Amino acid sequence: MRCPYCGGSDTQVKDSRPSEDGAAIRRRRVCPDCAGRFTTFERVQLREVTVVKRSGKRVPFDRDKLQRSIDVALRKRAVDPERVERLVSGITRQLESSGEAEVTSEAIGELVMEGLKGLDDVAYVRFASVYKNFREAKDFEELLGTLGGTLAAPAEDEASADVAPTSRRRARQAKP
Ligand SMILES: [Zn+2]
Repeated sequence: MRCPYCGGSDTQVKDSRPSEDGAAIRRRRVCPDCAGRFTTFERVQLREVTVVKRSGKRVPFDRDKLQRSIDVALRKRAVDPERVERLVSGITRQLESSGEAEVTSEAIGELVMEGLKGLDDVAYVRFASVYKNFREAKDFEELLGTLGGTLAAPAEDEASADVAPTSRRRARQAKP
């Protein structure tokens, strides 16, 4: 595994242990060149899943992007990270084992809403309001682009973290 800091190819595993209820192996690694430390996860990938976006564009399903879009909805909410991991892993496993080679971004959005409903009410409302408001405006694509697209994730600045997604969107649009 190449060092993310200096690009060195000789990183060493310092610690390795089960994570996510045994569904993953978490490894702490260190780079002997720059002393940089980072973590990697080893997970089962049952098979490749392709996400069909509203535009018709097809992109590979990306677990990390799914995780990030859920993290946006859960921002500043006190939810156990293990439970979030389990949600992300559960959706991923569901997609990989569904038997379908392709899945729409809408279908993934429905799974996320379902999962958030049981996890945190505020996060659910945040996600659902964005999902419904953006549905017509094609801006839904912008949000769910984080599930498997190349579009940028929603704004990361802390100041806007607590506003409703629609207000945040207006704020973004207001920028030159
Ligand atoms: Zn390094």
